Amino acid sequence: MTNMKKPKAIALFSGGLDSTLAILTVLRQGIDVTAITFLTHFGCDISDKSSCSKDPFSAAEKFGFEVKLCHLADKFIEVVKNPMHGHGRNMNPCIDCRILMLKEAKELMDVTGADFIITGEVIGQRPMSQMRNTLAMIDKKAGVSGIVLRPLSAKLFEPTIPEINGIVDRDKLHAFHGRSRKQQMALAKEFGLTDYPMPAGGCLLTEPNYSFRLRELLNHNPNPSLKDLHLLRTGRHFRVSASCKIIAGRDEKDNDKIESLAGEGDYILSIKNVGSPVTVLTGDGSQDFINLAAAICARYSDAKYLPSVDVSVYSKGERFVLKVNPATEEVIERYTIRMPESKKKELLKV
Ligand code: SF4
Repeated sequence: MTNMKKPKAIALFSGGLDSTLAILTVLRQGIDVTAITFLTHFGCDISDKSSCSKDPFSAAEKFGFEVKLCHLADKFIEVVKNPMHGHGRNMNPCIDCRILMLKEAKELMDVTGADFIITGEVIGQRPMSQMRNTLAMIDKKAGVSGIVLRPLSAKLFEPTIPEINGIVDRDKLHAFHGRSRKQQMALAKEFGLTDYPMPAGGCLLTEPNYSFRLRELLNHNPNPSLKDLHLLRTGRHFRVSASCKIIAGRDEKDNDKIESLAGEGDYILSIKNVGSPVTVLTGDGSQDFINLAAAICARYSDAKYLPSVDVSVYSKGERFVLKVNPATEEVIERYTIRMPESKKKELLKV
C-alpha cells in the first residue's frame, strides 16, 4: 500500500463560470480543491449584485469542494489608493488586485500544505490583467511563478510545476482563449453546470461614476472611513468644502441606507409629512453648511415649490427645525459632484 499524499490545490474563486470550470477541471483529476473567495469594500463580494463575485456556495455544495471567504479589508484599500501598476480605465487596480489575491492564496497554500494554485483566467479575455506577459509578471510579483495553474488556458502556457511533476495531467487541461464564451459553455454542459452567472464587468471600481466619486473623496481625504466609502454608492453627492459633504437620498432605498450609515457627529435632515430625501451632512457642521444641507434637502422634496420649508435636523441626540428656501438650480450646480461631460466622452471612447 502506498502512502502518497493526495494532491491539493488552492483556487481563486469568484463564483463565476470561469473559476468554477477551472476548479471542476482539476477536481476531475482527483485533486482536492479549497476555494478562496475574496471580499472587499468595493462590491467584489457575494452580497453585491454589481460584483464580479457571485454566490460561491451553490457550486461548492453541488460539486463537493470547500470555500473559504477572505476579506481583503484595508490591504485592498491601500492597493486602490496607491497601485504600483496603476489603475485601469477607472479606479480598478486590477493588476495589483490580482497580485494581492495570489499572495493571499500562496499564504493559504503554505499553511494548508497545498501543492499549487488555480485561477479561472482565460488568456486574452480581459484587456489588462489576462494577457500572457501580464500574467507572468503578476505571478512573479506575487512570488508564485510556476505554481499557478490556469486550467482553462493551460495548454497555451509553458507547463507549470504541478504538470511537470505529474500531479496534474496536462492532456486533460484546456486551450481556451479570447472573449468568446462558447467553449466554456460547452464545458459547463459537460460538467452538468447549469446555473451560473453571466460574466459581470468587474467590481464597483470599474464603474465610471463610482470611480469619479471615489477619486474626488480621496483628493479631499486620503484616509476615508468605511462609512465614507459606503456612502459613495448611494444618493446625490455635494462637495461643500474640503472637509464637508452633503448626501441626499434619491429614493427610499437610498434613504434607508443613508440613515443606517450616518454616524455620530453627522447631521441627518428630512422634512416631515411630505416625500423627502434623507440628507446627511458629514464633516464640518458649521451653521452655513447645515443651512445649505437643509436647502438641498428641501430642493429634492415634494415641498420644493414652496417659498420656505421646515426641515428637521438631528445630530448628537438633539433635534431642531430650520426654516429654509429650497436650493436654486445654481446652488445645486455649484456643489454637485458630477463627472464632467468631457470626461464621460473620453471614457466612452474605446
Ligand atoms: S475588477 Fe479588477 S480590481 Fe475589481 S475585483 Fe476584479 S480584478 Fe480586482
